[in-house]
Amino acid sequence: MIKFLDLKKINAQYQSEIENAMIQVLDSGWYIKGAAVTDFESSFASFCGTRHCIGVANGLDALVLIFRALMVQGKLKKGDEVLVPANTYIASILALTENGLKPILVEPDHSTFNLSLNGVKTNITAKTKAVLTVHLYGQLATDMVDFCDEQNLLLVEDAAQAHGAKNDLGQRAGSFGIAAGFSFYPGKNLGALGDAGAVTTNNAELASLIQQLGNYGSEKKYHNSLQGLNSRLDELQAAILNVKLPYIDQEIIKRREAAKFYQENIKNSKITLPNWNENVENHVFHLYVIRCENRDKLQAYLLENNIQTVIHYPIPPHKQSAYKEWNNLSFPITENIHESVLSLPISPIISLQEQKKIVEVLNNF
Ligand SMILES: *Cc1c(COP(=O)(O)O)cnc(C)c1O
Repeated sequence: MIKFLDLKKINAQYQSEIENAMIQVLDSGWYIKGAAVTDFESSFASFCGTRHCIGVANGLDALVLIFRALMVQGKLKKGDEVLVPANTYIASILALTENGLKPILVEPDHSTFNLSLNGVKTNITAKTKAVLTVHLYGQLATDMVDFCDEQNLLLVEDAAQAHGAKNDLGQRAGSFGIAAGFSFYPGKNLGALGDAGAVTTNNAELASLIQQLGNYGSEKKYHNSLQGLNSRLDELQAAILNVKLPYIDQEIIKRREAAKFYQENIKNSKITLPNWNENVENHVFHLYVIRCENRDKLQAYLLENNIQTVIHYPIPPHKQSAYKEWNNLSFPITENIHESVLSLPISPIISLQEQKKIVEVLNNF
């Protein structure tokens, strides 16, 4: 069986380094907001090319805290409209409704799966105050950066799938908006051994607010200036991330090589490949997502041939029971994406032999 993602094998590459890092935390006797968290925050900020990074408990909290801080600053208030792609993972939308903001679901570009400049332009109203762009599957969605700047719209990035993706100028995911949320959920390209997340920003005031909000709203122990929450990056997870971060660029290269192999060798008129120019580094292939009209049949056929695949995602947010008020809305592009996408196995350790088998099976469908 070719697994969709073999996390044990991925982490085994760094086994002894991870063990040492965990023992160091144990020996330090300091388990919350210690040296490993501080080190990770400064390394990840420099990796992303931002002035600040704040470690938080997970990717959802990263986004929740960004919007909460923007509200504390008075830049947003309850009921303000925020544009967000209709085909995103539910976390992007939960971060808005959690803060009493109003998500305006926008159809993505059909070929990139991402929010486009045109999507932003056609959905903007007088009530639109912010845009939450999502670098879905690991591909930058930054078309709207200049427009948001000109229109005074706050741009926030959901970079949970896009660690290290960069544009032609070498600017990385997490450095385009007022702030960005990252997830280090184990299956993400930079994955911890549990939940973890971070916010990156160039704005010092926002960084300090997010830091406080994620730590009980306190600047100084037992002095609470804001009604915060407990959402801190765990010291052990930070120690593990410190081991893995130096390897991420080489892992991205391997993911891109694997994607390139699929791009060049999958030849089946029933299958649409991702829209990606092989010479650009704007895609880090957290997921390699193909489209097929008979998707469910294709998935079953691949499984019969011992190839595991996953659907990201089977149900769009507006069709979820959590958002009953949207269940009757119609987003044809989004719905078509959810009906036709299929994610193939991809990782820094997928072998050429495995890929050849996957391609051969796909080409015979
Ligand atoms: C994973 C993910 C999140 C949430 O991250 P968690 O760490 O699981 O809370 C948010 N947005 C997107 C696009 C994601 O893929």
